[in-house]
Amino acid sequence: MSKPIKGSVCLNHPNKEAVARCATCSKPVCGACAQVHDGGTYCSQLCYDNAKRTGMMVEDVERRKAKANFRRQFRIIINLLILAAIIGAAYYFYTRNKSKVDQTLKEASQTVQQKTTEAAETIKKNTVERESKYKRERESALQ
Ligand SMILES: [Zn+2]
Ligand SMILES: [Zn+2]
Repeated sequence: MSKPIKGSVCLNHPNKEAVARCATCSKPVCGACAQVHDGGTYCSQLCYDNAKRTGMMVEDVERRKAKANFRRQFRIIINLLILAAIIGAAYYFYTRNKSKVDQTLKEASQTVQQKTTEAAETIKKNTVERESKYKRERESALQ
């Protein structure tokens, strides 16, 4: 940081050549004015404090973002684990009670089939009734 910046003079000392620019406000400063903190050069304590505060804010935001990300991923993993557990339990139950489950499924599908047939018959009956009623009404209206 002792290398002069070409054509720039210290903002506090116009007769002195600037050796660095403030990392926060880019003001050129001479060797006497430059303050080195944490490997960065600043024109004043204020600029260093600002840099520290901004850095801390950025870190904080990053930390919070990472935390939120972690929480989201954690939730997804938990949901997947629950899902896997449910599937596992269902599969386990199925393999242990295969004949019973198959029987239940068969009965259920038979019930569904029966209900569907019943419903179809009811719809057909209603439609026929409505049609014949319509026919009767038309016939009586024509007479
Ligand atoms: Zn500065
Ligand atoms: Zn100076």
